[in-house]
Order: sequence, then structure tokens, then C-alpha cells
Amino acid sequence: MRDRLLWLIHSPFALLFPILFWALVVGLAYYRNDRTLQHAGFDLAKQRGEVAFQLIQTMRHWNAIHGGVYAPLTEQTPENPWLEIPEKTITSPEGVVLTKLNPAYMTRQIAELLEGGRLEIHLTSHTLMNPNNQADPWEKRALTQLEESGDASVVEIVDDRFRYMAPLHIDQSCMPCHAKMGYEIGDMRGGLSVSFPVSYAQRLTTGLRRDSILTHLVTFVLLSVTGMIALTGLRRLLRSLQRERDDRESIIVDRTANLNKEIKRHRRSQETLTYLAHHDELTGARNRRWILAQLGYLKQEAEQCSGTLAVLMLDIDYFKHINDRYGHQKGDEVLVTFVSRLQSELRQSDQLGRYGGEEFLVLLPDTSQSDAEKIAQRLRRAIADTPFQINDEVLDVTTSIGLACLEVDASLGQDELVGRADVALYLAKQTGRNRVVCWNDEMAH
Ligand code: GH3
Ligand code: MG
Ligand code: MG
Repeated sequence: MRDRLLWLIHSPFALLFPILFWALVVGLAYYRNDRTLQHAGFDLAKQRGEVAFQLIQTMRHWNAIHGGVYAPLTEQTPENPWLEIPEKTITSPEGVVLTKLNPAYMTRQIAELLEGGRLEIHLTSHTLMNPNNQADPWEKRALTQLEESGDASVVEIVDDRFRYMAPLHIDQSCMPCHAKMGYEIGDMRGGLSVSFPVSYAQRLTTGLRRDSILTHLVTFVLLSVTGMIALTGLRRLLRSLQRERDDRESIIVDRTANLNKEIKRHRRSQETLTYLAHHDELTGARNRRWILAQLGYLKQEAEQCSGTLAVLMLDIDYFKHINDRYGHQKGDEVLVTFVSRLQSELRQSDQLGRYGGEEFLVLLPDTSQSDAEKIAQRLRRAIADTPFQINDEVLDVTTSIGLACLEVDASLGQDELVGRADVALYLAKQTGRNRVVCWNDEMAH
């Protein structure tokens, strides 16, 4: 989840997020604001309609409470043919002919004056005295609605015109003219409609809407830019934090690797030390300390199990000559080859150790004297029968071997056992070398 979020932040499309986000937020805010403006515009237009209606209505009432007013009879103001009252037309003492204008006549004349202007009015009814006051389709519908619902007004926008209609009710002042039509006080006589172009009604809201678009647009741009800058900063911060973490991790990895190397080196040197503690460095054979310790252990084991143990002591013949003739280095290589030949002839349980210089001890557990003698002869032949190939040199090497066995009934010490093998070896040397000599009791003297 965290990785997916980081990927999203660092993706090339991430900079679109603030734009889309603020487009949505500011778009919604604008939509709401525009709806409010629309309602405000509608309310304003409705109020305009109400004011016009109230004004006309008041003038009509003024006319009615005076029982109509007289105006000079002219071409524009002829006698009202639908008015049936006495003294409809009179002559003043000065001879001016005057005709009576009731509220309906007066309203019609005002409507004619307003016709073609910004605001128009129309007096109408379902039951007309004057057929010129015929209601248009919208007015018919509005009149029916007013009659049926008893609403104070009907307000609509029709064909880019704002239309307002309110009912006209019969009151006392209307009765002289309308009583004969069967009306009673309070009846709805008809309606007065007011209309004007929507553009005229919404001039104020159009300006406000333009301002609103501009404000929302600027807000959107500022917020988007700020969002993009913030996102870029966040990306940088995350990258530097990641770099720091990587650096820390690489330091830890380096330190761990160094530590591991150190541990390995330490383990290797410990292994070397352990190896050197038990082995001869030059030949790889066991060293003197180990072979003597092993002798003690095998001797004890042989004594406890009533077994046998044979000890061979080997000494290379005339080794000094080899050193003198071929050099000390070659002498070393002879020692290495000497040991590897012996090893290949020995059993798993047999042990070979460097006793000193070019002298070696071989321990043969569970081995009788006759078997030990055969093994000693095999070892001797393994050295003597095949010349040593040391680089370009071919050397004849021989070894003398002294053999001593652990006697079951004799309480023989470890040193004595080695001493006996040494005496036998001495004898082998004395009697011509390259031979095996077994210790016998006669040698004790
Ligand atoms: P012998 O047949 O009587 O044993 O004669 P030898 O010459 O072998 O006499 P001896 O055993 O006394 O001589 C041992 C020599 O081995 C003396 C010494 O210089 C040499 N030597 C001992 N250790 C090493 C070694 O590690 N490397 C080499 N190259 N020579 C060694
Ligand atoms: Mg020697
Ligand atoms: Mg020697």
C-alpha cells in the first residue's frame, strides 16, 4: 500500500492530481454558486413583477374608489362601449365632453402605453366583457392554476420572457360594474399579467455570474499551481529521505560485510592455529606433540582391550647428503614426498607423525608384530623401489625402520616403547640401512 502510494506520487501523471482535484472542488463550488445566483435572479424578477402588479393594482383601486374618473373624449379615448352606466359621457359647463374611464379601461390604456417597452402588462379573464382582453395560452393556464390552487401568483420563464400573473379579486368598489355579471365580493374576476425579457430581469445576475466565473477560475489556477508546487516539494523531500535511508542501509551493509570478512579471517586464522597445533607445517603430517599424545591414548586403549600396538620409527638414510647435494629446498620437497608415499600405504586407523628432522613415528593400533613387520617392509619398499622425482632431479631415497611392539604382560612406559623403536632403528642403520629391524629382548643389553 505504502509502495503503491509512493509510486503514485512519483509517477509522471501525479502533477495532474492537484489539477483534477481542484477542478472538481472549484467546479462544484461554482455550480452551487451559480444555482444560488439563478435563484436570486428569479426572486429578483419575481419581485419586479410583484411591484409592477401592486402599482397597477393600486391605481385600479384608486380609480374604483372614485367610481371611475372622467377624461376628455378624444380619438384615443373614445367612449367605453362595455360600460353601461348613467352619465358615461358628460359635458362640462365649459363645453368639454368627458367620458368615464373605469379601472379596466384605464388599465387597458396603460397597457397600450407600455406595449413594446421593457415592461408590459395585460388584463385578462376567462369571462371577458371586452374580447380584446383575450388571454394567451400561458395566461389561460396561469388563470386556471390561480383559480384551482388559490396561489398568490404564477411565475415562469416562457420563450426568454419572464412572466408573472396575480389574481384580481372583486371588492366593494368593483360591484357597481360587475355585480350584474353575478360576481360577489372576494371572487376572482381575472388576472393581471406582467412580462419583461429575461435578459432585462437578469442583468444584475449576469454581471455577478461573470465575476463568479472569473473568481472561481483564478481560485482554481492558484490552488492547482500551489498543489503542484507542494507535490514537487513532497517528491523532493521523499527522495532525500529515501537517499538518506539508502545511505544508512549501504553503510550497514558495508559494516556487516566487513564484520563478516573479519569473522571469516578470524575463523581461518583460528583454523590455521588449530591445524598448526596438531600438524607439521612442512609435510602436513601430525606433529611430535600430537603423535606422542596419540601414542599415549592408543597405548592405554590397547592395554584396556588386551590389544596390540606397534610403533615404527623411520629415519631417511643419508639425508644430509641430499641436503648437501641438492640443497635444503629440495631436501624439504623430499620430506613432503616421503610423507605422502607413507600416507598412501597406511590404513585409516594408522597414524603418522613427524618426530623430528627427518625422523617419523608410525603408530599401528591392533597390529601384531609380524603384521607390523610386513607393513614396515611395505613402507620401506614404497620409498626405496621408486626413485623420487623432485622437479628435474631423480633421487634414490631409502629409509631405515625400527619396530617395537607393546607387550601385553610387560608394564612398558610410553617413552620406553619409543626408545625400543629407536634402538631398533639404530641397529637398522648400523646393519646397512634401508632395512627394517624389530626390537628384541637381546637389544636391551
Ligand atoms: P643417517 O643415514 O645416519 O641418518 O644419515 P643422515 O645424513 O640422515 O644423518 P642425520 O639423520 O643425522 O641427518 C639429518 C639431517 O637432516 C640433518 C639436517 O640438516 C637435516 N634436516 C633435518 N630437518 C630438516 C628439514 O626440515 N629440511 C631439510 N631439508 N633438512 C633437514
Ligand atoms: Mg636423523
Ligand atoms: Mg637420517
